Amino acid sequence: MSLHKPSTSEEEFFAKQNALARHKAAVKKAREMAANERDARRKEHFMKCPKCGMDLEPVVYRGITIDKCYHCRGTWLDEGELEKLSGKGPDVLSRIVELFHGGHLTEE
Ligand SMILES: [Zn+2]
Repeated sequence: MSLHKPSTSEEEFFAKQNALARHKAAVKKAREMAANERDARRKEHFMKCPKCGMDLEPVVYRGITIDKCYHCRGTWLDEGELEKLSGKGPDVLSRIVELFHGGHLTEE
């Protein structure tokens, strides 16, 4: 009984198979790392003001949740909410401005 010595073409075939499998594993790992980083960023930034980083407060107006920053006074809308608000009538933006007008501090 003699040991089978792989031919050069067999060695190359298995080396290529091995390289392909390692490449697929590395791509999968990179995707998982990217997904984990996205999740971590989502957790870190959720309901934080994109301008100043303070907490956002949800304010429901006519069934639409407006995310308000009472620090820098930024007003934020999720995807599709601007379109919904625009369907609420021509004066809806001025009414929202009025809604938050009381939160302005007087200049010192
Ligand atoms: Zn802010």
